[in-house]
Amino acid sequence: MAQSIFSRIIQGEIPCHRVYQDEHVLAFLDIHPVSYGHTLVVTKEPAPTMHELSSRAAAGLGAALPRICRAVLGATGAEAYNLVQNNGTLAGQEVNHVHVHIIPRYADRPVGLGVRWEPIEVDGQELEELGRRIARLC
Ligand code: AMP
Repeated sequence: MAQSIFSRIIQGEIPCHRVYQDEHVLAFLDIHPVSYGHTLVVTKEPAPTMHELSSRAAAGLGAALPRICRAVLGATGAEAYNLVQNNGTLAGQEVNHVHVHIIPRYADRPVGLGVRWEPIEVDGQELEELGRRIARLC
């Protein structure tokens, strides 16, 4: 399978505005930011989606995130942010390589990300069965 653009950035073939790197992740500014400071945290392991990522790479990603979030907040002055992580085309994923978007939010700067929660209809029995089914697979 062809390498993702993020693998090519990790290997230094394509430039980026790098902000952090360690054994497990590379973080850099998104080239088409939806807000000032929009940063991508990319796993060095080239898994396409979160459920395909190894536990070790996931632990590395989790360990790096708070540090990079703090740096983004410190550098931008933002007090709020969303973490967005898309998996699969239907979910809006364009680059098939695990990454987390850090999207700072501002009262006085434009942010091109809407967040709207609209609960779907579901009955209690269905939730009960679904909870048990997922729990069995965890
Ligand atoms: P997603 O839709 O979650 O897969 O997001 C992919 C993100 O990668 C988009 O926000 C793009 O703007 C960003 N992106 C794609 N190519 C590059 C690049 N060469 N440098 C920085 N960001 C990129």
